[in-house]
Amino acid sequence: MKTLAPGSTIGVLGGGQLGRMMALSASQLGFKTHIYCPEKNNPAEQVAQKVTHSDYTDEKSLAAFADAVDVVTYEFENIPVSSVEFLCAKVAVFPNSKVLQVSQDRLLEKHFLNDLGIATAPFRGVSSIEDTISALNDLSYPAVLKTRRFGYDGKGQSIVNAKNDIKTAWQTLNNDQIIVEAFINFDIEISVIAVRGQGGEVKCFVPVENKHKNHILDVSTAPARIGNEIKEAAIKQASKIIGELEYVGVLTVEFFVSKDKPTLRVNEIAPRVHNSGHWTIEACPSSQFEQHIRAICGLPLGDTGFSGEAQMTNLIGDDILQYEMLLNEKGARVHHYGKKEIRAGRKMGHVTRLSQKKS
Ligand code: AMP
Repeated sequence: MKTLAPGSTIGVLGGGQLGRMMALSASQLGFKTHIYCPEKNNPAEQVAQKVTHSDYTDEKSLAAFADAVDVVTYEFENIPVSSVEFLCAKVAVFPNSKVLQVSQDRLLEKHFLNDLGIATAPFRGVSSIEDTISALNDLSYPAVLKTRRFGYDGKGQSIVNAKNDIKTAWQTLNNDQIIVEAFINFDIEISVIAVRGQGGEVKCFVPVENKHKNHILDVSTAPARIGNEIKEAAIKQASKIIGELEYVGVLTVEFFVSKDKPTLRVNEIAPRVHNSGHWTIEACPSSQFEQHIRAICGLPLGDTGFSGEAQMTNLIGDDILQYEMLLNEKGARVHHYGKKEIRAGRKMGHVTRLSQKKS
């Protein structure tokens, strides 16, 4: 285990709001950040000490970046595995590349989870319309077709209610690496944000309940409205996943919670800090971002305790126009990601509201 001293530089692959909030936490703990991202004027570089604008596959830039930093992490999962492996040969990289391979491919991810004894939606990997028809003879309708790779916020997904929908779904997805999932009639969606330190210690925040609008996270409420048994089971499964991957840093596990058995099914894992954990900034002694920085720097993990109620609402697209109004709202904690251009579906900021637990 290598402990980094304050003053060291953390390299972050990716320049979005997650990198921005990571950099703010790093700064609070006395670390510098160096952002590596192809896009100029990104949210993270506005609060970091250094930035490299280059492609993720440019080995000359990656090598110079590795020389300039003391540890590397990433804030999104679609970084080429080969780039992370290239960096690993030169500098410590957390989390490791094993988790990227698993989480970049929905089919591998589901096999990995099922092999651990963790339930997911029933699924089949398919590569043609004929395969899909026969998979759905087994799984039955409705079902969700998803591209195996590079899907997020509902992109790369199509619902099929009957055999007649299959052809259109294939045309929409325009990809031949597809996973078919049975549609789960869940009651609620929850996530568990877990952190694992370099010595193997694991801590989890309380499960949080997530509501989506147009496939994008809208509101996260902590704690989730679930009984103790489900809460403990979700935390146990997340701890098992993060331990099995020998992961260092913050990892998020999203679950469907149903009345029918199995009560818990993992929808997906995200090898990073997560939108559903933003409430921890104000609500917990050590936020998800701080925990991630602590873990990758070889420092002791922080306190994940939380006893009240918290609600995080994303400010998406035009919602950001409420900025001044929210600044006038008592108790509202407003975050602006520094993005200039408002676009529909773009995450522009968020607001967190805390309250005492109702008895
Ligand atoms: P994903 O990109 O896999 O996280 O999916 C985005 C959202 O689509 C999830 O948060 C769910 O609300 C919904 N969804 C995805 N897969 C399924 C499924 N198998 N059954 C029901 N809803 C799903």
